[in-house]
Amino acid sequence: MIQALWFMAVLAALALTGVWLADHPGSVTVQWQGYRLDSSVALLLGAVAVVAVLTALAYRFWMALVDLPSVTRRWRQGRRQRRGFEALTRGMVAVAAGDAEDAGRQGKRAEGLLEDPPLTLLLSAQAAQLAGDEQAAARFFEAMLERPETEFLGLRGLLTQGIKRHDWDEALALARRAYRLRPKSAWVAANLLDLQVRAGQWLDAEITLGEAVKHALVPPLQGGRQRAALLHEQSQEAEAGGDGAKALKLARRAYDYDPAFVPAAVRLARLLVADGKGLKAAKVIEKTWGLEPHPELFDVYRAACPAEDGLTLARGVQSLAAANPGHRESHIALAEAALEARLWGEARSHLSAAAGAAPTARVCRLMAHLEEDEHGDAAGAREWLVRASMADPDPAWVCESCGNVAAEWTVLCGKCEDFNRFAWRTPPRIAHLAGPGDAGLGDAGLEDAKPAVLTHDEAGAG
Ligand SMILES: [Zn+2]
Repeated sequence: MIQALWFMAVLAALALTGVWLADHPGSVTVQWQGYRLDSSVALLLGAVAVVAVLTALAYRFWMALVDLPSVTRRWRQGRRQRRGFEALTRGMVAVAAGDAEDAGRQGKRAEGLLEDPPLTLLLSAQAAQLAGDEQAAARFFEAMLERPETEFLGLRGLLTQGIKRHDWDEALALARRAYRLRPKSAWVAANLLDLQVRAGQWLDAEITLGEAVKHALVPPLQGGRQRAALLHEQSQEAEAGGDGAKALKLARRAYDYDPAFVPAAVRLARLLVADGKGLKAAKVIEKTWGLEPHPELFDVYRAACPAEDGLTLARGVQSLAAANPGHRESHIALAEAALEARLWGEARSHLSAAAGAAPTARVCRLMAHLEEDEHGDAAGAREWLVRASMADPDPAWVCESCGNVAAEWTVLCGKCEDFNRFAWRTPPRIAHLAGPGDAGLGDAGLEDAKPAVLTHDEAGAG
């Protein structure tokens, strides 16, 4: 619209100029070197205008001719880039589809076409991994370390490779480097923590865990439990190093983080008893008994409240059982104390309460003990022992990751090496049949249930 108006205005101006020139005619005479040219003013102005237009057109044409090589270059570059990105896209699709051959081919094409390597490096690394060439993939990942924008992805790829080939020292160094780059990445924090735990670097692991909780990568409750286990290990180390005071302090911290964590309560109570603080130890045990009764707690409790005779013991155990009345373990503790005090009726009533419909092996053995001691009934005792051999297993430490059943709690599972995954529960029967006394009683075949914070992502970088 504006263009049309502009055109009309120019046309009008030209027409007016023409009319004005017609109204005001005049002549021009040029004399030069003996030549003479007579012309009208209108004709001369027309000739000047034509020459100006032709010069402008010639200039435009010349400029276009000069620019031609760079225009052609830009066009070629654009076409290369388009084809490069096309190859990159196809390569990524091939990686996702698991087509190693096509991924490798497209990777090479993209590499040749695109001048910017970050994305093509990742594609080439993934294609190499897909083709099973870990060495080539490592070379690409290492090249990615050179550029700040791909450094983290390169580290991730190399770390995953290190974990896969169980090169723990290398993996730990890479995880530390990745953590410095991105401390808020859940994946990095989980791997660093796992590798520190594996290396027995309990204090470092505790710091990593603290940061992970602070960044909301680990829920506080889970973080508290993990921390209690890490402090338990530090306390154990301090005790082994001869620093009893430090061991006690660390055990106290572990217990405060998770009073339901039996190993920490047992450790703290044991150290308190050794320090002559039996009463404090008993309080620690009673609190944990209220949350998670465990036979080992009862053993430490007896050491914390030494009784001269069975009757004193039976009275003492009352306050322990009161922390968790009606619980099976409370009945068993009361029955054991009653057996020692030779209070047969009480022992029998607590044992039958603990037995319920299907007495476990431990209850059967205590019943045998009772039959033998109360009535001297060897046949009755034998019958209970036979029942014990066929009874349901008693609770044990069961790894929640792999189902491994262990007699004693350890911070790392002896089978799957996962961190702090033992829970006190009744193992499946098959584990019981594998025979008691082994550190690992066999594969109970539980479904894997890896913790959110401690899983290795082996899916590779990307
Ligand atoms: Zn395990």
